[in-house]
Amino acid sequence: MNDVLQLRKEIARLEVDLERLKRQLAHLQKACAHEFVETPLARTCAKCLQTESLYY
Ligand SMILES: [Zn+2]
Repeated sequence: MNDVLQLRKEIARLEVDLERLKRQLAHLQKACAHEFVETPLARTCAKCLQTESLYY
């Protein structure tokens, strides 16, 4: 039982970290002067790795 509680705590902690890192990444990608490299299906920024689909 103790292990289960420990795992739940660890998961909760990682989820907080994940949200923080996602926000950090979104912030960096928003501020990036993108340099897109195109493939037939998508284009990806070489600097921040933001990907945009070319299928609309
Ligand atoms: Zn970029």
